[in-house]
Amino acid sequence: MNTVDYLRISLIDRCNFRCQYCLPEGEELDYVLQKDLLTQDELLILLKEVFIPVGFRKFRLTGGEPLLRPGVVRLVKAIADLPEIEDLSLTTNGFLLTELAQDLFDAGLRRINISLDSLDPDIFNQIIGNRGRDRWEKTWLGIQKAHQVGFDPLKLNIVIIPNVNDHEVEDLAALTLDKNWHIRFIEFMPIGNGDLFQKKAWIPSEELRQRILQKWGLVSSQVLGNGPADIFQIPGAKGTLGFISQMSECFCDRCNRMRLSADGWLRPCLLNETGQLDLKNALRNGVSMTQLKQQVSELLLLKPEINFKERDSGTQNGTYARTMSQIGG
Ligand code: SAM
Ligand code: SF4
Repeated sequence: MNTVDYLRISLIDRCNFRCQYCLPEGEELDYVLQKDLLTQDELLILLKEVFIPVGFRKFRLTGGEPLLRPGVVRLVKAIADLPEIEDLSLTTNGFLLTELAQDLFDAGLRRINISLDSLDPDIFNQIIGNRGRDRWEKTWLGIQKAHQVGFDPLKLNIVIIPNVNDHEVEDLAALTLDKNWHIRFIEFMPIGNGDLFQKKAWIPSEELRQRILQKWGLVSSQVLGNGPADIFQIPGAKGTLGFISQMSECFCDRCNRMRLSADGWLRPCLLNETGQLDLKNALRNGVSMTQLKQQVSELLLLKPEINFKERDSGTQNGTYARTMSQIGG
């Protein structure tokens, strides 16, 4: 059986972008109230007393936009200092990295994923929900800053949407030619903005891979990480190209992760809500650590069945009502 030792922790569900594919058009989400966010102390207790003892060793901080979480640098340091942790990483939209990259590195973070869906400021602005064209520039500077500071591996997450940014696949892939950056093309999923998904559909990774293969050739490669990406390299390039194909290929059998939402719900699977545990309220109601460990251990045993049997049970017309930003993408 696959070992589940990787926890993705959402630090906050709010975001300073409004990406087309991540959030529903025009609708306001029910954001978690401040009082319902897991506090730093609660999160650390859960890590030390529950997740690490039951075997979790790899952690990714995400959101929403994790860099909006007040005290994020302090929190990163407290987690990075836990001796049992084998791997700590963070996924961000990069907008605040010009200010925070050095502090995060000094706090002990070494691995970072930054979302960058376009090299064209106008298209980028359209994708992030028209928040101002200058956001591309600041995000790009944030990526450069993370590179200078020494994050390694530095990964760029890209969601390709037909007729929006699909003409940029080769230009984005070309970033790996002279930079030690690792691009991850993620297939667009019907989660977050089901209307857009139904209008635009998605492009299978294999189609993108073939385009790049025809232009430069590709060889198999590897890079440090915990994800399900298939990794390749343009011959002679400094960086790599990964393809995450959760739509065209079900990799539930390789799934090694659970997700903890900003308000403390532990979810065994991104795609359905079976088995989820309300750890925040359990903690606040005085449930003992022994009981919590027991509950999480039982969920670990149930996970393979949940992945396979109920992958699509949460869909309405083929799309999911929840967003990645709420669950902790
Ligand atoms: N705000 C941070 C960011 O954008 O990197 C972290 C949270 S975001 C939810 C994490 C990842 O989920 C991003 O790389 C984003 O592209 C991806 N994502 C969000 N909605 C998606 C969807 N419908 N299909 C595929 N990927 C999605
Ligand atoms: Fe925000 Fe990330 Fe979702 Fe974009 S993908 S809206 S940056 S949480």
